[in-house]
Amino acid sequence: MHYRNFTKDNLKVSALGFGCMRFPILNNDSSKIDEEKAIEMIRYAVDNGVNYIDTAYPYHQGNSELLVGKALKDGYRKKVYLATKLPSWLINSYEDFDKYLDEQLEKLDTEYIDFYLLHTLNKKYWDNLKALNVSKFVDEAKRSGKIKYIGFSFHDNLDVFKEIIDYYDWDFCQIQLNYIDRNYQAGEEGLRYAYNKGISVVIMEPIKGGKLSNPSDEIKSIWELSEIKRTPSEWALRWVLNHKEVSLLLSGMGELEQVKENIKTVSDAKPGHLSKSEIQLIDRVTKIYQEKIKVGCTGCEYCLPCPEKVSIPNIFQIYNDSYVFGTEDNSRSRYKHYIEKGIDASKCVECGNCEAMCPQNIDIRSQLKEAHKKLWM
Ligand code: SF4
Ligand code: SF4
Repeated sequence: MHYRNFTKDNLKVSALGFGCMRFPILNNDSSKIDEEKAIEMIRYAVDNGVNYIDTAYPYHQGNSELLVGKALKDGYRKKVYLATKLPSWLINSYEDFDKYLDEQLEKLDTEYIDFYLLHTLNKKYWDNLKALNVSKFVDEAKRSGKIKYIGFSFHDNLDVFKEIIDYYDWDFCQIQLNYIDRNYQAGEEGLRYAYNKGISVVIMEPIKGGKLSNPSDEIKSIWELSEIKRTPSEWALRWVLNHKEVSLLLSGMGELEQVKENIKTVSDAKPGHLSKSEIQLIDRVTKIYQEKIKVGCTGCEYCLPCPEKVSIPNIFQIYNDSYVFGTEDNSRSRYKHYIEKGIDASKCVECGNCEAMCPQNIDIRSQLKEAHKKLWM
């Protein structure tokens, strides 16, 4: 394992953090964690150098925090930094801040949380938390010792990211980044923006939720060109860790073998470890993925809200995935949920408001029609 600096106190965190949202489960029910296996995985990781455990209020329908609390008994709590997240979308009053934090401390069976994040901030949640005086809550929670460091996880566009970064003296933040999403949401520019302000950065979705682990034969044949043989997941993890601005990446590990493999991968994946030719190889793979993208939507959400509630960027993401990753069945079943909720592409009345707002000049109305044809008809 290798360790990187974290927060302005230069804490040493393992380059691999254990994401606690994909534990093995029983009876196909995500609320029923296979406790024996999950605890074995966490303790194996800690025994082999992982010292960052990341959970959140909603993971495994509220049961991840309970499991983590159990896994960190028998002396494991003091060996790790524990991160969990405030459920931003459930906060309706100032009292709610303490209500959820206290509940989380109890579930985790701990006196304090090392790294507390405002979960999944976007403009809407952020504006609400600000109006409810979240900075006062954070200052008091730090003073009382319930939390040691404060950060946020993020899902919105780059402008919103910069606004949040500039608003408060954050210790760290958590963003999505992988080699095909270099300009998505905060992206590489956001990574550098935070780093240059002395804010440590945690990376989530380094393998794009597993989508980069099972590439097409075309992409496999490019990976084969490398003298050093690596799995597609390993290439993805290494690309992220090659950035000096990254403190650690999170992997939501679902089986012990994956824990072992990831620990092995990150052990020597230090900043700048990839050679020029390895970076070129990754760029070639990126280009192939990007050429398959049908709609160049960056997910910035400037087109929202649509008066008919059409979920424009999400629909384009599902549509793109079906081409880029060949996941047609999966894309169609994801799209079915949008139909059921009445926020699918067929609800578009072609007012054109969204197109006037789109910085990518996407012909949104006609692309929505194409997406609907592909995903539903
Ligand atoms: S053109 Fe369609 S998708 Fe765009 S804002 Fe109007 S109704 Fe919504
Ligand atoms: S369609 Fe355009 S405005 Fe809407 S999210 Fe995509 S890039 Fe942004």
